[in-house]
Amino acid sequence: MGDPLSEIAGAATPLELVLRAAGPYLDGLGDRKVHDRSVDGLLAELDGPLPDEGEGGPESIERLLGIGTRAATHSSGPRFFHLVVGGATPAAMAADWTASLLDQVSGLWVSSPLAAHMETTVLRWLKDLFGLPASFGGVLTPSATLAHVTGLACARTWWAERHGADVASQGLAGLPPMPVFSSGLVHPSTRKALQILGHGRDTLRTFSRDDTGALDLAALEGALADLDGAPAILVGNVGEVHSGDSDPIGALADLRDRYGCWLHVDGAFGLFAALSPRTAHLTDGVARADSVTADGHKWLNVPYESGFSFVRDAAFPSRAFGGWGVSYLPEAAGGQVDYNVLGPESSRRARALPIWATLRAYGREGHRAMVERHLDIAAHLGRRIEEAPDLELRAPVRLSIVCFRYRPPGVPDDRLDELNALLGEALLADGRVYAGTSTYRGRKVFRPAIVNWRTTTDDVDLLLDVLRELGPALAARLGGSSG
Ligand SMILES: *Cc1c(COP(=O)(O)O)cnc(C)c1O
Repeated sequence: MGDPLSEIAGAATPLELVLRAAGPYLDGLGDRKVHDRSVDGLLAELDGPLPDEGEGGPESIERLLGIGTRAATHSSGPRFFHLVVGGATPAAMAADWTASLLDQVSGLWVSSPLAAHMETTVLRWLKDLFGLPASFGGVLTPSATLAHVTGLACARTWWAERHGADVASQGLAGLPPMPVFSSGLVHPSTRKALQILGHGRDTLRTFSRDDTGALDLAALEGALADLDGAPAILVGNVGEVHSGDSDPIGALADLRDRYGCWLHVDGAFGLFAALSPRTAHLTDGVARADSVTADGHKWLNVPYESGFSFVRDAAFPSRAFGGWGVSYLPEAAGGQVDYNVLGPESSRRARALPIWATLRAYGREGHRAMVERHLDIAAHLGRRIEEAPDLELRAPVRLSIVCFRYRPPGVPDDRLDELNALLGEALLADGRVYAGTSTYRGRKVFRPAIVNWRTTTDDVDLLLDVLRELGPALAARLGGSSG
């Protein structure tokens, strides 16, 4: 087997193999372990030297499926509560395959009116879904991190203009450090975006009232007053990744108006609070922001990679990312958009397709129902933890994240961090349910996030069952050794 041209007549044969494997894989997702370490040995079968003679498409895909469907972390199943990870709705999954089938060059109108037109449509739908003004500009990105890069690149374009500089053309030389202020709820991806943009991740200053990270509005206002009118960037956060806590975005927007700032909001998953009347108040004020980040691969349940950046003044993205000035890139005219000049990517995949399909398939109501089911499941888990003598809730349940730790009687307080860390390792080794540990308010905690469309109450009940199955032996070890 050699040249791919020899497979031109059966180009869909490898795809048929994927389709045949997909049914049993998806049907079995609810029953299998999230990750089965006993099959990690299969990974070695991926190795070996670069083949001189290829084995052909069908054979290579059979091999991939044989290893992949077993050795993968089945994070699109219902019990992956580690990090904030969504699944893929049936429509989103199929549309993602379609994006590969059609393989659109999605940066330019001329190379794919289909992808560009659909991107404009889904951005309009998403603004509607989140209650953002239709006049906002926007672009689809691979992730929230890259949406931060997009929004903060616009912010610094605005900031540099205030200093009389054209940063897109001339860079940062000669400019003072850019003041970026947030609360302690800020996600590390915001620092990463500043790092990528050349501002340095440690230049971000946080103002917190206490160890929850909650915004100290007065201290922030003091710092703004100290700037004496120099422009600054404010970062507001909706949905912190341990507690689901959010900043008062309206109050930040008031400061922006008073002091002349740019307000960037990180609502990677928290922006979906806008979908339910029960939580929409958490997003109050986001419509007043200058730039807004959210993720598709979390609470929208489209496959990786999917993020969104919205920018109030639609002129900024092209100022931050455009201006290539090369003759082979035609400029789109009249209502046609070239998305490759509106964000950090140039060549890019048609990631509008799965977003379009899931919104067409389930609509505003279907996505609201999913968000509310997750709120209910998180509330149920929070109640069970509060009632349990051996578990301790570490933050009020505000969204779809539940922060708690294992605290069985008999284990001294100063061994609880060690116990929870060991229990976290044991949980991942067991593999039936995944939830990560982290440190929140100085204590080792679990922080399962419920954002997958498949997850039910039974799945979070199983998390507690497994923790209680694994916990006592570890507790006995630590309780006993402390004497
Ligand atoms: C997940 C997350 C991010 C980063 O998202 P990526 O898509 O992984 O880049 C940023 N902010 C918050 C609040 C998040 O939950």
